[in-house]
Amino acid sequence: MQTITAWFPGKDEDMCEQECPVTNAEFLKEQPTDLDLRRLSLLYTKKEIREFAQQLGLSSDAFHNLLHIEKTETWKFEVIRKCQNSFALTFRHIKEAFERANIPNIHRLCKVHFDESKTYI
Ligand SMILES: [Zn+2]
Repeated sequence: MQTITAWFPGKDEDMCEQECPVTNAEFLKEQPTDLDLRRLSLLYTKKEIREFAQQLGLSSDAFHNLLHIEKTETWKFEVIRKCQNSFALTFRHIKEAFERANIPNIHRLCKVHFDESKTYI
């Protein structure tokens, strides 16, 4: 139940309760899966995703090629995926790019991971 509560939108805390993955070196070495990228794209606004991609150095051509995507959710995901394909991102790269872009609350990143590790089948 704890995990589900943590997922409610609007609950945007500065800190996680325990085992925060953004401070875990092993976690930061991992590369996000497509599913992680999808979740990640949902946690950030379009503006934030754009700044994030610019921090990583995604080219304006790459942005241009995505202009035809009308749906915001799809656009955000495609931008992140393009970054992933271009730069072979790990969670550390992602974290650092968000930090450099001054996008608040790095702990949003944890939520991607928490959901993954608590998937009940
Ligand atoms: Zn955290």
